[in-house]
Amino acid sequence: MTSPQPRRNVAEIPPYVAGKPPTVRPGMTSYKLSSNENPYPPLPGVIEAVQAGVAAMNRYPDMGSTALYAALADTFDVPADHLSVATGSVGLIYQLVQAFCDPGDEVVFAWRSFEAYPIAVAAAAATAVKVPVLADGRHDLDAMAAAVTDRTKVVLVCTPNNPTGPAVTQAELDAFLAKVPPRVLVVVDEAYLEFVRMADPVDGLATYRDHDNVVLTRTFSKAYGLAGFRVGYAVAPAPIAAALRAVSLPFGVSTVAQAAAIASLERRAELLERVDALVAERTRVVAGLREAGWNLPDAQGNFVWFELGERTAEFAAAADEAGIVVRPFAGEGARVSIGETEANDRLVQVAAAFS
Ligand SMILES: *Cc1c(COP(=O)(O)O)cnc(C)c1O
Repeated sequence: MTSPQPRRNVAEIPPYVAGKPPTVRPGMTSYKLSSNENPYPPLPGVIEAVQAGVAAMNRYPDMGSTALYAALADTFDVPADHLSVATGSVGLIYQLVQAFCDPGDEVVFAWRSFEAYPIAVAAAAATAVKVPVLADGRHDLDAMAAAVTDRTKVVLVCTPNNPTGPAVTQAELDAFLAKVPPRVLVVVDEAYLEFVRMADPVDGLATYRDHDNVVLTRTFSKAYGLAGFRVGYAVAPAPIAAALRAVSLPFGVSTVAQAAAIASLERRAELLERVDALVAERTRVVAGLREAGWNLPDAQGNFVWFELGERTAEFAAAADEAGIVVRPFAGEGARVSIGETEANDRLVQVAAAFS
C-alpha cells in the first residue's frame, strides 16, 4: 500500500446521521422536527450583539473566551477555572475522550443514546461499551456500573436521554456514583437540562461539587436556541476542566458565538420562559398521543420517542406527507422534536391516524 493510511479506527467511525430538512411541498408549510432545535428565533438583542462581532471578522476571536467564562462563572456561581467552553457539547465529548482515553480504553454509555458518543469514542481509538436502555427508555445504571472494568476511563450518562427521553433522578445518580470507582470520569450530559420537570431531578452543580470525578456538559444549542453557532461548556473540578481546555481547538469558539452566548445568558429569564412554553407544548403533545393510544417513554427533553421497530420508515414517511420531518432510527423508532404549535398539532394527527 503506497498511499497514506489513516489509523485503523478511522474506518470504524460510524457516520453521523443528521436530521433531514423537510421536503418542500407546494402550498404547505413544512417543519423540521428532526434535530431537537429550538423553534423560536433569536431573542431581541442577541442578533445585535452578534452583529458587532461580525464587523470584527478579520480578527481572531478572544482565544481565552474571557468574557464568556466570566458570564458563565457569574451565572452559575462556579469558579472560571472549573469551566471549559467548546464548539458545542459534541466538541466537549470529543475532548473528554481524547484527554482521558488511551487507545483501547473503554467508554461505557447507554444505548440507544446520543449518536455522537460512538463516533467520538471511535475517533479516539477507544472502545465503546454500550449498555442497553431499559424497556421504558431509562438508563440501566446498575448494568452500567457493572460494565465498568479496569480499562474503563469514562462513563457517559445522558440525562435526559436522547433519543428515548427519560432523565435519571438524583437518587439514581447518587447510587450510581457510589458504585463507580473515583478514577473513572463520569460525564453527565445535560444538553436538555432546562426542559426537565420531574420529581427528584438531578442537581448537576451540587453533584459535581461533591465528586472529584464528575463533569457536566451543557450546550447553548437547545434551550438557548444557538445550535447554528456551536457553543457549549463543561463544568468540572479544576484538573478536569484544565485537561479539557488543554486539548481544545485553539480559537474554536468564534467571536459571534461568544457574543451570542453572552447575550443569551443576559436574557436567561426570557429564554427560560420560552422553555416553559415548549414544556407546556410537550405536555400537550404527550397527552394527545397517550389519548390516541400511544405508550411513550417519559419525555423530559424537547422531543418525544416513538418505539416503532420495523415500522419506523413507514411512520417517518407518513409524517413527511404531513409536512413534518422526524428523525428515524431504522428498525428502532423515531424521535420527534417539539416545535411550532402547528407542527406539534400535525404530529399528534399523524400519530393518531397511524395504525
Ligand atoms: C444536542 C445534544 C448535544 C449538544 O450538541 P451541541 O454540540 O452542543 O450542539 C449534546 N448531547 C446530547 C445528548 C444532545 O442531544
